[in-house]
Amino acid sequence: MKIIEPHIHMYSRTTDDYMAMYSAGIRVCVEPSFWLGSERRYAGTFFDYFKVILEFETQRAAKFGIDHYSAISVNPKESKNSTLVDEVLEGIDEYLDHPRCVAVGEIGLNMNTPNEITAFRRQLLMAEEREMPVVIHLPHIPKAEGARIIVDIIREEGVAQERILIDHNDETCMDITRETDCYTGMTVYPFSKLTPKRVSELLKKHGVERMIVSGSADWGVSDPLSLVKVVDYLRSDGHDDNVIQQLVHDNADALYSASPNWKPNFSIEPVPVSEFQR
Ligand SMILES: [Zn+2]
Repeated sequence: MKIIEPHIHMYSRTTDDYMAMYSAGIRVCVEPSFWLGSERRYAGTFFDYFKVILEFETQRAAKFGIDHYSAISVNPKESKNSTLVDEVLEGIDEYLDHPRCVAVGEIGLNMNTPNEITAFRRQLLMAEEREMPVVIHLPHIPKAEGARIIVDIIREEGVAQERILIDHNDETCMDITRETDCYTGMTVYPFSKLTPKRVSELLKKHGVERMIVSGSADWGVSDPLSLVKVVDYLRSDGHDDNVIQQLVHDNADALYSASPNWKPNFSIEPVPVSEFQR
């Protein structure tokens, strides 16, 4: 089965992860901009990071047979510093215009503060103006309240919902995000977030249309093979292969297809191991 990993932070992962992902059938991935483990103090640090994920990470992934794209933004965790947000957004255009950038993201909320809401709204409108896909991060606590704020802003601004992924849904907020025409994402982690079983239950309740699943792996306890575990569990739980294909490939493909830069290549040949021995 062809798998697209629509949300993963490969910057924080190893070459072993790339090899394991390839072996398990993951061929294409999207890396949204995130934080670096500590808060950045300079706009320049964002710009250097954008360049790394748009260029170096794409080359690194290709060596292991994976077609890697990025989404660019100021993330919600660092959006509370409005001076820094202003400086980054002033210089962000060249990175959004980069041929490996397929979306604005991840934007959204972390603690639901007024500064975060301002940065979210500005970047949502930036994406709308450019007709780009958007990856939105729902806050962890309280998730339903954050989902309500985000959905209200999307409606108020009248932006195109079919280009938006609202990610990290769980049982407490899925009813709110499913009221929209946005794609709704579920994230599977080993201990927190969702398990494959909970994904299966949410699918049975809400259907597969506009549903997307990701591993969102980063520096924390997370798993770059989450999607493969989801596929295995869904099969054992009686879901049809067409439904699974829609969940781990077709829906993400449709979302990112709104970007002219999205040309997923499922046939990149990994560099032979002998090359690495030189
Ligand atoms: Zn993320």
